Amino acid sequence: MGIARLSWRAMAHRFQLPFKALAALAALALSLPALALAAAPQPPVMQLGDDVKPLAYALDVTVVPDKPGITGRVDIDVDLAKPLSFFWINGSDLEIRQATLTSGRAKFVAKAIRGGKDFIGLQFGKTIPAGPARLSIAYAARFSLNETRGAFKQKERGEWYAYTQFEAVDARRAFPSFDEPRWKTPWTLTMNVRREHVAVTNNPVESEKDIEGGMKQVRFKTTPPLPTYLVAFAAGPFDVVDGGTAGINKTPLRYIVPKGRASQTRYAKETTPKLVELLEEYFGRPYPYAKFDSVAIPITIAFGAMENPGMITYQSGLLTATPERENDRFKQYYTSIGAHEIAHQWFGDLVTMKWWDDVWLNESFATWMARKVVGQYRPEWDVVSFRQRERNEAMGTDRLSSTRQIRQPVRTRDDLGNAFDRITYDKGGAILTMFEQHVGQEKFRDGVRAYLNKHAWGNASAEDFFAAIGQSDPVVAQGFASFVLQPGLPVIDFMIDCSRQAAAVVLRQSRFEPLAPAGKAAQRWTLPVCMRVEGDAGGKPVCTMMREQQERIELAAGASCPAWVLPNPGGVGYYLSRLEPRAAAALPASQFNEQEATTFINDQALLAGSGALPWQQLLASIKPFTADARPAVVGAAAHVVGELNPALFDTGRDQALGGWVREHFGARAAQLGWLAQPGDSDAVKRLRGVVVPLVAEIASDAQLRSQARSLALAWLGGDRGALGAMTRYVLQTAAYDGDAALFDAMSAALAKSDEITVRSEIFEALGHLRDPVQRQRAFELALSPQLDARESSRIFEGASEEAQNAVALLGFMQQHFDALQRRMPEESVARVPRWHTKLCSAQDRKSLLALYGNRRPAPPGFERNLAQTAETVDICLLARAASARH
Ligand SMILES: [Zn+2]
Repeated sequence: MGIARLSWRAMAHRFQLPFKALAALAALALSLPALALAAAPQPPVMQLGDDVKPLAYALDVTVVPDKPGITGRVDIDVDLAKPLSFFWINGSDLEIRQATLTSGRAKFVAKAIRGGKDFIGLQFGKTIPAGPARLSIAYAARFSLNETRGAFKQKERGEWYAYTQFEAVDARRAFPSFDEPRWKTPWTLTMNVRREHVAVTNNPVESEKDIEGGMKQVRFKTTPPLPTYLVAFAAGPFDVVDGGTAGINKTPLRYIVPKGRASQTRYAKETTPKLVELLEEYFGRPYPYAKFDSVAIPITIAFGAMENPGMITYQSGLLTATPERENDRFKQYYTSIGAHEIAHQWFGDLVTMKWWDDVWLNESFATWMARKVVGQYRPEWDVVSFRQRERNEAMGTDRLSSTRQIRQPVRTRDDLGNAFDRITYDKGGAILTMFEQHVGQEKFRDGVRAYLNKHAWGNASAEDFFAAIGQSDPVVAQGFASFVLQPGLPVIDFMIDCSRQAAAVVLRQSRFEPLAPAGKAAQRWTLPVCMRVEGDAGGKPVCTMMREQQERIELAAGASCPAWVLPNPGGVGYYLSRLEPRAAAALPASQFNEQEATTFINDQALLAGSGALPWQQLLASIKPFTADARPAVVGAAAHVVGELNPALFDTGRDQALGGWVREHFGARAAQLGWLAQPGDSDAVKRLRGVVVPLVAEIASDAQLRSQARSLALAWLGGDRGALGAMTRYVLQTAAYDGDAALFDAMSAALAKSDEITVRSEIFEALGHLRDPVQRQRAFELALSPQLDARESSRIFEGASEEAQNAVALLGFMQQHFDALQRRMPEESVARVPRWHTKLCSAQDRKSLLALYGNRRPAPPGFERNLAQTAETVDICLLARAASARH
């Protein structure tokens, strides 16, 4: 499945092996006794084992982007734990031209044997003694054109650029190696490139000289210890922008972008040094590497940016922006993704996980750290709302029976295919927030610093991190582990109990799992639970470290029976809160601070979306917040209403909800309008992006819709300045009533623009067309041979957000999935089942499984994505039945 792979034979042909090399290979094969290969050894499943340990790499590669691939030679200093005549290394789709091993004065020639997709066996004619040796391999690798992993190349404005992306297990596509994160070694890279090209890797240039054929040889300084997945290089006719220096060591900063984009790095240049400095301050250690380049890649698949030490790569639209596209949305994206990748330079790069099951250590931490740094850099951006959104997204996945653990064993490629999901990033980030709050910011920071100091330049595992943050209190480590090592979302019931002499609140914890199989064993976490209680002195929360299934918290002596408790102060706890209806009704909206209101609204919505609360009750409970003076609170209420699946409503969502939305949000939407007004605060701008599209959509506001159409047509016609961060909402709203004229304007704008970020917004909007004829045209356009499917498949992503288009999208995939699959990178295909989470009927569920179930071989991660989608549909069915009963 996936794109056709070239066989080794074809590779040799494609690279037109010079005669000399072919002769050498032939001689090599002849020199080996045939008997040695009688029993072909079985390649390992995932890991190489400990027989051969890499100590240092020297990699010399020739990288000419308009050629079909790279050629190179890798010299690896190794240590053999015992005498061996055969061992495995990693290599995928590589052509091995020559492999020798030098041990002492003896030189051993190897025959290379392919071991499945991931391994190369090196068979030696004699037994090599234990101890140090040097393995030297001459090889060739092809550039990927469609995928962005291994070594790949892309064309922008007529010029080719070559890049790499190795996380998780794709370094083996670019060079033979011991491709596991536990092996951290120094690297000495040499690149042979065209004289007019820029060559960049993780470390600064050591020396440069011209060589024959219009080429130059660039040698880079030896790096500190790096695992294979963090090595990176790029070559091409880049623009290089000097970004000055930053931080304690005055690290030089550069922005390396495709030709013509130098002026688009303005915002990155302004922001990056401050992010470096804020992070140095937190970690109490300087930025660990000798230089800091940020490199732009036109298109990326399955990642947005990558934390290669000293050479962070970004999808172009995240790093660069034309002045008209340098809007708030772009700024927030760059700042938060930049902070994430820079945080990795310490957390992930300086200290690296031992194996991929602990990739959460990297990702949870960088997610959490990015929020912290962005909050310090731009307090007005309301990072708390972003954090709440992430928490909520994680909970949406974590309620599933098919959810992963944060630390999920990685035994197969499939496990790895799912390892970079919301649980790893967002749930992990939310757990860090919860325990940081419990431990106290300073103590927590000290734990983080101790962890970095202890494991700097080396590897660590989850246990090391638990120990560091639980330094002063082992229960904290226990609690943290209870979230990392078991799946699922806790729900806590808060029950006021005044039946005994002392007033009390009884807490009961369980797993929130709408489709739990009957008789499933109870689950328990060790977690900090807090609440505010009516009449508490000075608003100080009542807190406990909950360990039992049920606990009774007695209130202060003499306290009267409270009418209400407000759960989860500050919204920092990663659990759903459930109140008895009477106590919920008694809870005055004025008591909630902003985070508490947002958390309460989100929790109620998740309960309703999971069949645990009728939607009418959801609306009643969030109604008081729709008139709130705080924009973030109104925005949270509007957001959850917009997310309600229309299938929950017998008469259709828009009919049932339209009047309610108009009544509660109509006036505000009219007052805000589509366009930013001078003096709007950041909070008001964010509110506009939620409330105006909501009223236009669900209340079918004719005026807002016709304004959206005019604005969209002007934007498509080339007037790109006015909409700013509202562009996507305006285009999507216009698409709801989109006709042939709008479709044609969208196609014409696509034909005219070569700016990927502009094109991507148009593709996404095309997926929101609801008129069956125009929608079909859009779906067919996505498959057009004139378009790059990596870009045009965004049409399906747009459609997947649109419940109204869910059934049509499934129907189209029934006809065309195979054709689409042939044109898409494997990693994108793995995510296709996720396009169908808005389905909500038993028949559609059946069709979904008929279409995607039992596909062999499926790309890594495909099956779990399908299982989670099917379960999401089941939960919608459950919620639908619950609402109908009400
Ligand atoms: Zn990351």
